[in-house]
Amino acid sequence: MKRLRLELSSVIKGRYEIDVEDINKSCFAINRSFIINTILCDNKIVNYKVIEIRYNYKIISFELLDESHKVIIEYEGIIDGSTGRYPYVKEKTTDDFYLLRGETVFYPTFEIPESEEYLAKMLYPTTNEKFQIIIKMNSKYMLCTNLDKINQFTYEGYNPTFAVGKFKRYSGYFGEIYHMNLAENSIMKIDSIIKSTNEYMNRFKNEKIKDFKVIVIPHGYGSFVLSNTMFITIDGVSEYEQLIHELIHTNWNPLCDVTVQKSRFFDEAITQYFTARVCNALAIKSQEDIMTNYKNQYLKMIKDNGYEPHPIQEYHIYDCGDLAYTFGALALNAIENKIGTNNMDKIMSKMLDKYIREKINFAKFKALFDEDIDDIYNDYFLTNNASNMLSLLI
Ligand SMILES: [Zn+2]
Repeated sequence: MKRLRLELSSVIKGRYEIDVEDINKSCFAINRSFIINTILCDNKIVNYKVIEIRYNYKIISFELLDESHKVIIEYEGIIDGSTGRYPYVKEKTTDDFYLLRGETVFYPTFEIPESEEYLAKMLYPTTNEKFQIIIKMNSKYMLCTNLDKINQFTYEGYNPTFAVGKFKRYSGYFGEIYHMNLAENSIMKIDSIIKSTNEYMNRFKNEKIKDFKVIVIPHGYGSFVLSNTMFITIDGVSEYEQLIHELIHTNWNPLCDVTVQKSRFFDEAITQYFTARVCNALAIKSQEDIMTNYKNQYLKMIKDNGYEPHPIQEYHIYDCGDLAYTFGALALNAIENKIGTNNMDKIMSKMLDKYIREKINFAKFKALFDEDIDDIYNDYFLTNNASNMLSLLI
């Protein structure tokens, strides 16, 4: 586990502690606005130097003493808005609101940001990637985070992300909404959508959405999602499709192993299909309209963005799981059209019930159906037939 103490005000002060056995090199990246105060190896001060500055971070190498066990890095600084790597990452710790996230590189990272190694650890973290963070901050601000709160000052979890600002908290039956000045009726609407989504999804599997956090951030920061936590911009609050999508992820995806998961069928395609069902039931948007959108988005990816079509069962091989969000949902919709909604619901329930602990794969998925779905299965999952048909329609 990585340990971090953070003092959050307009100046950020950090003290990062890691076991030597968890690192394999003596250099790390950190936001280039921070200065290093001290690096300690087993309490001995060691030398360090900046070896490279890239994008919004610098790489620092230090003298790792032989047979040392623990490294402590103390740093501080003001993030002034100039170290944003993307248009929407423009953190400024002197503002009344700021975000600290992976892209901010606000703690030392021993993998180069955005490298394959870095992304792999984000996607499939092991317990080494777990953080314990102790926070000290100015009481006029409220801290919102994806991490679990252990006690008044201590938080634990993966990919630590913080929103700091003058937030207000609303507690709903599902979890919490943090916002700065959202109108009462918008809060009530979010609350009722979460409740209705939960009720509708219970037809597939009885679960209760809990500990879900919606953190409403200002316009221009870009919405993003971490486990059980949605950071959503104020202008995205009324786009309920994304909210429903994230809610479905919390309880209504079957378990699958990492290789199959790369196809994104059993998480994203299934979630997108359920999202269409919920939006239709809640009269947010018809299932038909959503499927038309999926179809257009899919064809745009193929045509404009140069994606190669592949059968769904091969997505993980060609690393094109992005297509599952649209094409995978269309495949499920095609199955529903063939066997009828009632039968489809029974199969989806059976899938969610059976694969809670056991891992699903494509063969097991196909075996859930008593009905003959061979033609659809062949066209969507095993060949490019359905994809070619869609392309002919435009
Ligand atoms: Zn998703």
